[in-house]
Amino acid sequence: MFNKKDIATACLFAVVIGLGILAIAGFQKKNMNVLHIVEHPDPALRKIARPIAQIDESIISITNDIVSTLRFQTLVDFFLDRSVPRGLAAPQVGISKRLVVCGLRGKIQVMVNPEILERKGTYLDNDDCLSVKEDKGTVIARSAHVKVRYTTLDDKEKIMVVKNDDAALLEHEIDHLNGVLNIDY
Ligand SMILES: [Zn+2]
Repeated sequence: MFNKKDIATACLFAVVIGLGILAIAGFQKKNMNVLHIVEHPDPALRKIARPIAQIDESIISITNDIVSTLRFQTLVDFFLDRSVPRGLAAPQVGISKRLVVCGLRGKIQVMVNPEILERKGTYLDNDDCLSVKEDKGTVIARSAHVKVRYTTLDDKEKIMVVKNDDAALLEHEIDHLNGVLNIDY
């Protein structure tokens, strides 16, 4: 009939499904939506995103949905043993606004109207994109040091300096705001 390995695999599978259901229920309870991620060659990925003039309820709601979508995708990719995504830009969910969400310095950062002020050095990055399925882990020469100016959700202007993989990630996400994809390099 069943050997111990089969039973262990079935138990593990049940736990994973259970955690998945709990995670989805948690998202719904918080009234957060998991959005559809558009994929290349969708024209939404090629538009120059519009600056955000005012941080209002709709921007906060969009941001919550993008954060939920990134967290959900992280969970899915973790269980499927794929490389875990670290960032998502508004154009990737079909919203033409200058807004990015990315894990920098071990924390999710929301950046409204981010603008790179300074780039230095070179960092070779294994570049993955949730919107480009056919091109996984291409090595791209990014900057090793990036200084960015952005606005926070509570409308404060900030400057952040990030290095290496964080700098590469930030360049990748800001590229999305300018209609640029990793396959263009
Ligand atoms: Zn991307």
